[in-house]
Amino acid sequence: EAEARIQAHLAEIKRSNAELEQFAYIASHDLREPLRQIANFVALLERRFADQLNDEAREYISFAREGAKRLDNLMLDLLEYSRVGRGEQLAPVECEIVVAAALDNLAARIAETGAEIHIAPGLPTVLGAKTHLIHLFQNLIANALKYCSPERIPEVRLSFTIDGKVVTFSVADNGIGIDPVYHDRIFGIFQRLHGREEYEGTGIGLAICRRVVDQHGGRIWVDSVPGQGSTFHFTVSLATG
Ligand code: ADP
Repeated sequence: EAEARIQAHLAEIKRSNAELEQFAYIASHDLREPLRQIANFVALLERRFADQLNDEAREYISFAREGAKRLDNLMLDLLEYSRVGRGEQLAPVECEIVVAAALDNLAARIAETGAEIHIAPGLPTVLGAKTHLIHLFQNLIANALKYCSPERIPEVRLSFTIDGKVVTFSVADNGIGIDPVYHDRIFGIFQRLHGREEYEGTGIGLAICRRVVDQHGGRIWVDSVPGQGSTFHFTVSLATG
């Protein structure tokens, strides 16, 4: 009887989880539309009425524009977070292609920071969901570029090891590092160690990474020496046959 009760509880948790995910998806999807409308009209005000606005008005409008942009980034990240839960079939995916796509999406930021990016040759083919793997690499590399002290040029190293059927990828940076106290917490949603004035962000990136890795049946963790850099590791399965 205890067993039956546990099963019923589990089913209930599953159902409410699915509902919550559906809610997050719809909310972030549908809320973007009116937000876009606000952003468009603010931009129009800024452009069309530039000569009629005084400095104070222009400043207020720019705050509105930045707020809308931040909210849109948050919605996009939430949308991505809720999408990862919606199970996808895993299939062989070439990491060469995935990593190239991630770097392509980050090209502007890489150019801006003058970062040095080193990618180990011969990236393997893994069992995965391609778009989610692109996001996983992209989030980790984006953080490696972002959490760098201003007097350093970011250096990012992507390497991997293979042990049987398990591939461990590592993304290492020479950034500000993370105190060991926070090594688990940072993978939770909305967990940030810095204010927005210091580093812009939503606190969703690593939570997405953890969901993607979970979905792939792997593990994700971080090693870091504060002040010297961090290395994020995650495991996925090698595609065989
Ligand atoms: P965001 O970058 O949007 O704040 P993330 O979920 O990607 O959110 O990261 C959570 C927190 O973990 C960040 O706010 C930052 O404090 C810390 N962090 C993530 N990646 C790194 C890194 N490579 N180096 C130092 N700190 C990091």
